[in-house]
Amino acid sequence: MEKREQIYEGKAKKVFATDDPERYIVSYKDDATAFNGLKKGTIAGKGIINNRMSNALMKRLEAAGIPTHFVEELSDRETLVKKVKIVPLEVIVRNLSAGSFSKRYGVEEGIVFAEPTVEFSYKNDALADPLLAEDHISALELASKEEVALIRKYALAVDEILTAFWKECGVTLVDFKLEFGKTADGTVILADEISPDTCRLWDAQTGEKLDKDRFRRDLGGVEDAYAEVMKRLLAHG
Ligand code: UDP
Repeated sequence: MEKREQIYEGKAKKVFATDDPERYIVSYKDDATAFNGLKKGTIAGKGIINNRMSNALMKRLEAAGIPTHFVEELSDRETLVKKVKIVPLEVIVRNLSAGSFSKRYGVEEGIVFAEPTVEFSYKNDALADPLLAEDHISALELASKEEVALIRKYALAVDEILTAFWKECGVTLVDFKLEFGKTADGTVILADEISPDTCRLWDAQTGEKLDKDRFRRDLGGVEDAYAEVMKRLLAHG
């Protein structure tokens, strides 16, 4: 596999073409942003942890029947993935109240929901990723009704699998964001990453935050938190 030109540079990853038209290489950076890019920083070693963690979790999901973009881990920071066109939706699953949910509805963090919730935001930095009603996804032609139904089904299955796995690791999966993409033949698969950048992970005993909220909220111990969840994942891998 030969790495070719850079296709795209995002906030936390770079994407490169390869000699295979159906494959990309993603390269994970230590750069961190929050609040739609307003807060910037670096988290030393984050790229390595996010690359390895995302790959380990995607492998698990594949084994459970969820199609993902994962092909092969190439190095500490680089992974070969299937080329997709990203569906411009941020798919957020919540098991407990936190973050923008708590803010929007004026409730404390940590309320355990009877059922997980799925919500969609429009992946659009210029508009700061506004929340979407499902009818608006069709109106804006971001995805078809069938695609939205499939994405919702996959998102809930991911939640079930990852909630159980993180529980074994002594971690509560509070909420997370997924992105899906479409391959050349139109198949919808899970793409992007699953990491402490995109999940809220709380220690199951103490409730200590082991994710990007430590960076967003200046709680300190950011690198240690990422290393701790990675250690727990490896111990239960
Ligand atoms: N999230 C993300 N990228 C975003 C927005 C949210 O990865 O652009 C993740 C976030 O880390 C959390 C979940 O999605 O695990 C729910 O985030 P929320 O809507 O509460 O927004 P936030 O409080 O992070 O602004």
